[in-house]
Amino acid sequence: MNPDFLVIGAGVAGMRAAIELAAAGQVLVVAKDSLRESSSEYAQGGIAVALSDDDEVELHEQDTLAAGDGLCDHAAVHALVEGGPAAIQQLIDWGAAFDREGGSLAFTREGAHSRNRILHAHGDSTGREIARTLYRQAASLPNVTFRSYAATIDLLLVDGVCGALLWDGNSQSLHAVHARAVLLATGGLGSVFSNTTNPDIATGDGVAMAYRAGAEISDLEFVQFHPTALHVDGAPRFLVSEALRGEGARLLNARGERFMERYHPLAELAPRDVVSRAIVTEMERTGATSVALDLSHREPGFVRARFPRIYETCLRYGVDLERQPAPVAPAAHYAMGGVRTDLDGRTDLRRLYAAGEAACTGVHGANRLASNSLLEGVVFGARAGLAMLEWAGAQRTEQGIAPESRDSAATAAEIRALAWERCGIVRDAEGLQAAIRRLEDAERPGGLAPQSAEAANMRQVVLLIARSALAREESRGAHFRRDYPHKLAAFEKHSIARQGADVTFR
Ligand SMILES: Cc1cc2nc3c(=O)[nH]c(=O)nc-3n(C[C@H](O)[C@H](O)[C@H](O)COP(=O)(O)OP(=O)(O)OC[C@H]3O[C@@H](n4cnc5c(N)ncnc54)[C@H](O)[C@@H]3O)c2cc1C
Repeated sequence: MNPDFLVIGAGVAGMRAAIELAAAGQVLVVAKDSLRESSSEYAQGGIAVALSDDDEVELHEQDTLAAGDGLCDHAAVHALVEGGPAAIQQLIDWGAAFDREGGSLAFTREGAHSRNRILHAHGDSTGREIARTLYRQAASLPNVTFRSYAATIDLLLVDGVCGALLWDGNSQSLHAVHARAVLLATGGLGSVFSNTTNPDIATGDGVAMAYRAGAEISDLEFVQFHPTALHVDGAPRFLVSEALRGEGARLLNARGERFMERYHPLAELAPRDVVSRAIVTEMERTGATSVALDLSHREPGFVRARFPRIYETCLRYGVDLERQPAPVAPAAHYAMGGVRTDLDGRTDLRRLYAAGEAACTGVHGANRLASNSLLEGVVFGARAGLAMLEWAGAQRTEQGIAPESRDSAATAAEIRALAWERCGIVRDAEGLQAAIRRLEDAERPGGLAPQSAEAANMRQVVLLIARSALAREESRGAHFRRDYPHKLAAFEKHSIARQGADVTFR
């Protein structure tokens, strides 16, 4: 079936857009795994919104700008925080059950927020509750069709972007899907790193496909590393939410010393990049592979009631958070950069839109404020959907062509290790150049077989991260260069990568 609108990705951004698009035509939402396998589904801590009695949109705006370290797009931040309260009310109207205290919405605090403004659901299953609400709403609309295990391999080009090549995992066949407009809502890229909190699907496919199609990619050097992922041998790097530190959890090094006060006045609630680098320093200093996150001083039953999912998961890997600290270490978590868009999801290619973590509106600048990304998904997902309606009257173009693709001679595991070692929390020119050389050598010409599409995308994405990080000869936000440890006014600009050109700044 050729829909009017093709939405690539079934996380919060894609589903929120689909709900708007259903008013103007047939919408096909595709997901490369099951519909539930997305970062949205795993988001725990909450969604930030200026709705509590002592909060104001302006304060949320100031906190977001401060976290972004001089690189936020002010108009995008304004659109996010101002659109927040209505977006949340809409979710509540559609049935989202955020946690309440005595009938009123319950707000908690996370790092670098000046007010308690984080809404949560079922304690620590906020993303799942929002995704469930949006799915129910979208699936109730007759114009919206979902297809799982359907991975887009490449975009189809003619008069901009007119569809995508889709690998249908159920029938094991490749199809061309043509549409009037296409939305990339493919989520993040954490899984190009060997340590990540992200699900396996997060390989930056949207960024790689858009880049091959000729779109601008922006700020890819800014990858947020979450300081506290569970670090137990054989276990996935499960995120132990910042909200635990909001509730008083302390970080202790291998000698049992509390160390964050030595690094930042906000101690455990300092910005994520500061906490991540402090943990790396302490691990190096003590020769340990993790530090300890301790909330065992809280009253019995607190952790289990407030963080049921985290408590159960840690327990499954032998850690009882009520009684003992959890071993934690940093892991790749969130991409501030992505496919460059305006405030309504428009990329610089006609008929191609992007929203959510795959997009870069500039709203997060050099570092994302905690819990702003679920909000980004619902606010900018809806805006992109509305903008795409402009194309409702346009003709669908058939017979688009896929851009020339490249295969990867490096395996996914090799790419992940290279990304972690050379493009991780602490970078330098030597390591970045080595990564670039290795990845350039691993390029193989030829068609893109569906089975190898993911590794090819990962190679492309890590190459973009490395080139952007090498070009940014300063340290800012989540990007840290040991050879350029200071922030420089000359780099208060966004990096732009485009096929066939060097990385530039604008
Ligand atoms: C463990 C964890 C905890 C988090 N906690 C929070 C939090 O508390 N608050 C907060 O605000 N943010 C949090 N985040 C970040 C937030 O969850 C994400 O940024 C956000 O959910 C991204 O939404 P999205 O719709 O852009 O992408 P996703 O929800 O990741 O969805 C991506 C979709 O794209 C599909 N896809 C990808 N590639 C292809 C392809 N080639 N073909 C077809 N489909 C494709 C996937 O199958 C999936 O359906 C957390 C993230 C993680 C990983």
